[in-house]
Amino acid sequence: MDYDALFEKHLSALRDAGNYRVFAELERCSGVFPQAKWHHDGATSDVTVWCSNDYLGMGQHPIVTQAMHEAIDRCGAGAGGTRNISGTNHDHVLLEAELSDLHGKEAALLFTSGYVSNWASLGTLGSKLENCVILSDSLNHASMIEGIRHSRAEKMIWRHNDPEDLDRKLSTLSPDRPKVVAFESVYSMDGDIAPMEEILDVAEKHGAMTYLDEVHAVGLYGPRGGGIAEERGLMDRVTLIEGTLGKAFGVHGGYITGSAALIDFIRSFASGFIFTTALPPAVAAGARASIRHLKESSVERDLQKSNVALLRKRLDALGIPHLPNPSHIVPVMVKDPVKCKMISDILLSDYGIYVQPINYPTVPQGTERLRFTPSPMHTTEDIDHLTRALGSLWSQCALARSVA
Ligand SMILES: *Cc1c(COP(=O)(O)O)cnc(C)c1O
Repeated sequence: MDYDALFEKHLSALRDAGNYRVFAELERCSGVFPQAKWHHDGATSDVTVWCSNDYLGMGQHPIVTQAMHEAIDRCGAGAGGTRNISGTNHDHVLLEAELSDLHGKEAALLFTSGYVSNWASLGTLGSKLENCVILSDSLNHASMIEGIRHSRAEKMIWRHNDPEDLDRKLSTLSPDRPKVVAFESVYSMDGDIAPMEEILDVAEKHGAMTYLDEVHAVGLYGPRGGGIAEERGLMDRVTLIEGTLGKAFGVHGGYITGSAALIDFIRSFASGFIFTTALPPAVAAGARASIRHLKESSVERDLQKSNVALLRKRLDALGIPHLPNPSHIVPVMVKDPVKCKMISDILLSDYGIYVQPINYPTVPQGTERLRFTPSPMHTTEDIDHLTRALGSLWSQCALARSVA
């Protein structure tokens, strides 16, 4: 058997379909975010990163990096075991307390990543709650889809952000079956936000528990960075809130929060929690410092909002089409996979601007886009440089402009 030939066959199919992924090799530079070095063909050049999920630049914040240095010096590098066997460090316990406080819940549980938290929690709920049905928004993240699939529970998909469709689907189910309504707050590709109150009304009417992924909202929305549920005063109505420490908090890891019984249940039955080494204590310490800072400080959130508004204004002035949405995500619509990749390549090589093209299958065909995430650290010059570059590339590629 020539196994490499079998692998290559799949890879060439991917290349032929235009879906082969090429990673830009970056070297992040602490202290000058969003600037980074780009390594390519044996050389390096300076680039401005325009598509980072380190939304607030907390990955380089001195409060965060100092907490990590201090914890490494105090505890060493790794956690030393799974949570059950010698791996539960004091820093994990402190971080879990910080997270349950952030979301106004009784308890919290840490995971290796946000992906694992969704996969393990939905997998456990769906498999352990007898006769359970999981009702999943049609645009839910891959980690939720995989967790639901893994649980082997019955799954119903409701139309994206459509509480009426959810209501119809829930109405067909017997009142005595356990039901989990799974959805996100901010959806990462379109930047749209769930009609959370209406979804909660419907779920409560049918006695369903709610599972909310706030990965693209924690740190960014709400007076203490608790997410969209905090901003809208709805945290106490959501059964389980899931988040990441790797995006706006700038570090690494995932978590869930909820009632003491719910968290103890997941802690006790989730294989993806139990049988893996705990996060390094320094990672937990850095994440906790980041959360504590963003509970108190709105400076980063305010600057980010004004940069998002400025970028949108500059794009509008040039007639460059971008999806209107109420979030911090600015999707510039190219609507052509080849041109989308080409614009991204030229921005990188000729303008020192790094934005990854987003093509099918991440988004539907015909909606190919460049997804910009302005941070508090992008300067007005960065924004002007970007929009000037986009303006000339828009003409070069003969792309349609919107009328103001
Ligand atoms: C990124 C992402 C996750 C996974 O979080 P990680 O900490 O990066 O593993 C989960 N849900 C959504 C919606 C995401 O975009």
